[in-house]
Amino acid sequence: MATLPPRHDHLQVNFCKTVGCENFACSDEERYVIQYLNPQRPAIVCKKCGAFPPLLSNQLIHDEWRRLRKHESDGLPACRNIECKNLGLSIYHHKHLYHAFGYSGERQRYRCKACQSTFVDKWSGENKKLDIQEQLLALLFTGYSVQEICSKLGINPKTFYDHINQIASRCRKKQALFDMRWFGQVEQYQLATHHQALQPQSHNGVQWLVTAEPQSGYVVSQHVSYDEADVSASQDFDSHISEPFTPNRYVESSFLADIGKSSQHDNLTLRERIDAKYQNILARNNVEDPLGNYHQLHHPKKGRLVFPPYTSYAHFYNLKLQCDPKKPLIMYLTQEPLLRSAVISIYQDRINDHSMHLLYVDEPYLWNKHQSHGKIDIVHMGWWQDRWAISSQTHRDSNQDIEKGICYIAGPTSDPDYWLSHASINAVHKYQAKFQAHFASFINEPRRKARPAGIIPLLDIFRAWNNLCSQNKQGQTPAMKQGLIHHPLSLRQLLA
Ligand SMILES: [Zn+2]
Ligand SMILES: [Zn+2]
Repeated sequence: MATLPPRHDHLQVNFCKTVGCENFACSDEERYVIQYLNPQRPAIVCKKCGAFPPLLSNQLIHDEWRRLRKHESDGLPACRNIECKNLGLSIYHHKHLYHAFGYSGERQRYRCKACQSTFVDKWSGENKKLDIQEQLLALLFTGYSVQEICSKLGINPKTFYDHINQIASRCRKKQALFDMRWFGQVEQYQLATHHQALQPQSHNGVQWLVTAEPQSGYVVSQHVSYDEADVSASQDFDSHISEPFTPNRYVESSFLADIGKSSQHDNLTLRERIDAKYQNILARNNVEDPLGNYHQLHHPKKGRLVFPPYTSYAHFYNLKLQCDPKKPLIMYLTQEPLLRSAVISIYQDRINDHSMHLLYVDEPYLWNKHQSHGKIDIVHMGWWQDRWAISSQTHRDSNQDIEKGICYIAGPTSDPDYWLSHASINAVHKYQAKFQAHFASFINEPRRKARPAGIIPLLDIFRAWNNLCSQNKQGQTPAMKQGLIHHPLSLRQLLA
């Protein structure tokens, strides 16, 4: 007799995900038919509404979340033991969790009260490599290749990557201090999430999820569905799981992409595009897994590909833990069940008590939020019969009609007029596009296509640069717009 995957640490994500269905957020087994005959597609079928959400292991979501947290806290003075409940909680905000424990050279050493492991504040004191790292970063942001930078600075590639890793670690530390402040001081959380392939030309399957504050472009969180740890270490980590009906956290290297299940469409109306996306989604083996639309999949040569839903659920779980549950929450998503199902599952309590707004947003780059929109068309689309509101405006320079759509998924006030004006996803699109453009030669270097690990420190550096250094025409950085600081940081200040 098949049963639902067991709850883990308050996590239970296996239930009907149709908001409004009687079985929504309810994990009573008798309300579902559990289907596990097709091992490619273990799912439950809701006896009330017929929805068929795929099954996931709650414990593996939790394990994936620990991996994300371990990476984020790399560089912070915090417990680094992946088994410990204090993992990633820094001494800046959680002093009570640690004892001062002597010195290591000039650096203060600390001991975790929970697991007794010790660590030092790695980046306390001045950065002795400030000059060369500042030059290196300036060259990198100008678009020079690794080879060119190495020859300009007279260093070898190994030294280059050592610098990059140290810079990334400092950036994570600096960013963590601003993030803490951001989560504490904003009055309501407004968040926009988008995902895309990290290396679109490589077909290596690595998904990159970014969540940003949509008005300022302050990037709050980003993760990739790829674990750079070597195979043996990761295998050990998953071996304690024995849930036969849930997908593994790591995509098997034998996993083959489906053939020809997605199609690219140009020159479609917004409505046709949304509809085509629903068709692509239904063509997947697992509706929550975008790898189901890949024509080809070249697994990374090192490290392991994570089954994207685990990263997505962990991404939103991580956000939830950082947000004050009493503050209002608004979330905009790109049209994608990978994100939607994760949000609905992780925020089931808020959805049940109507204390968050959740929307799909499809917004063209040129949309002007200060300009009014035309008449609103309401259309029901996809298997889910999602209710989309679509409107258009005329772009002033090109005289072109551009369309924007929103789909209100959950919450107390679904007024389409209001949301068409306010909901926005462009900031996060632009962030990802800017990263791809800035580091195109780095990302698409032939050897790197199968080795995404080298890009991960760059993501951490780029996020800190985006939030703290990059200015708009008025000289404002995203952190300034959010009231976190009064001036932009120079590269030198970022590294100090
Ligand atoms: Zn249902
Ligand atoms: Zn610990």
